[in-house]
Amino acid sequence: MDGAQIGAALTAARSRIAAAEKAAGRAPGSVRLLLATKTVPPSLVRTALEADAERPFGTRPVLLGENRVQEAIVTAAELADLSPELHLIGPLQSNKVNQALRAVCCVETVASLDLAERLAARCEAGRVLDVMVQVNVSGEPTKAGVPPDEAMDLALAVGRLPALHLTGFMTVGAHSPDPAVVRSGYAALRAVRDAVVGSGAPGTSDAVELSMGMSGDLEAAVAEGATIVRLGSAVFGSRRP
Ligand SMILES: *Cc1c(COP(=O)(O)O)cnc(C)c1O
Repeated sequence: MDGAQIGAALTAARSRIAAAEKAAGRAPGSVRLLLATKTVPPSLVRTALEADAERPFGTRPVLLGENRVQEAIVTAAELADLSPELHLIGPLQSNKVNQALRAVCCVETVASLDLAERLAARCEAGRVLDVMVQVNVSGEPTKAGVPPDEAMDLALAVGRLPALHLTGFMTVGAHSPDPAVVRSGYAALRAVRDAVVGSGAPGTSDAVELSMGMSGDLEAAVAEGATIVRLGSAVFGSRRP
């Protein structure tokens, strides 16, 4: 893909998001676009960031999301001059915590108190790391995340760790051909978010983000309040090297 193709794909993705915002009666620009860059070579990610510089006035720059710490390190190093905001959106093993802390500004995949405590313990003095609690809204055994009924307790515990800044919740939607099933999972994540923020507990007042929705189902996610949609194939194509 060249710059013009990536630019066109980004424009198409942004219009799809705008149409979904409008259909849901939400403010234009309330949903942020995160580019899921797994297996995308850094040179192509660079092309995407350069194309994103031409985005419409008033829209926010894209976020980047990597699934693997190893790839996040490469992306962060090769694109350092563009200082992208890089999130980890895949599972984090405890032996990769230090590397993750060097590469990303947000870990969206905190699904245990153990991982939260390890991240907090490894933050250098004064650093506060943005994190989200990952919830498995579908109950599918292949998916990471805490069950919805455990998400509140985990979020409250994360909120009490001074080195972590709880910014919201993340999920991977149900793998279902039934749009109603997919959408009810996203509604469940929103309910978790509302309960946690509504609790008024320490460290929860900023936990407003809902990172949910991918290329196949972003409309359902935006309808249920997504604030970040994570798009890979819609921008980079489905057949990647
Ligand atoms: C791959 C991936 C995405 C993007 O999926 P597409 O269907 O390609 O848009 C989003 N989130 C996570 C966690 C992913 O692994």
